[in-house]
Amino acid sequence: MSWDVIRDVKQETSCACGRGHVIKHHVTRMDDWNRYEEEDYGFTIECPDCRKKYDIDSLSYSYYKDRGDYGTVTRWYLVPKGESIKENIPMCLRERPINYDEMVTAFYTKEQLQAVIDDMKKSRYSTRVSLDESRQIIQDFKHRYRTCKLSVVIPYLEKTVAEYDTREWTYEKMTRIKQEYHDVAASEKKRIEDVLSRSYKLSFIG
Ligand SMILES: [Zn+2]
Repeated sequence: MSWDVIRDVKQETSCACGRGHVIKHHVTRMDDWNRYEEEDYGFTIECPDCRKKYDIDSLSYSYYKDRGDYGTVTRWYLVPKGESIKENIPMCLRERPINYDEMVTAFYTKEQLQAVIDDMKKSRYSTRVSLDESRQIIQDFKHRYRTCKLSVVIPYLEKTVAEYDTREWTYEKMTRIKQEYHDVAASEKKRIEDVLSRSYKLSFIG
């Protein structure tokens, strides 16, 4: 399988001070299956002043095309040297529970799970539980384990409560990570807006 270059266009626009240019190439490739890929390469700031002050950086946005198909549009900027408009959020704040066992402890406190156990014992049938949390847990448990018999669910929850404090994910950890993610994302948004206000948007033609 090989990608053939079907188009390679040199594009150009003015630099931030207006006395020079910024150049890039836009290449379109196609493979044996008629799939396309596009890429920008060969960026050059052809202005001594702007080259000293700026680097080239980009922002990419996803947009909905149609029928569940998404596209990406990339905007290019001259950004003050040493700064970036890329969102910088540590991977540890993007961590989330990955399976049902982790989700149970991440989404419910130990006290909530204990209340659900008491509710289930009192109700005796999965169709008669009275707490919203009980109904939700039964629905998710059935989805994961193909059963919602309380004789299976209750021992599972009792084991979970007994091990709660040693589990990787707890409600407290989930809440803390979501809050920290939210705070960092908000401050990154402000930082990027500030860098953008001192950047120069490039509008390549060609
Ligand atoms: Zn310039």
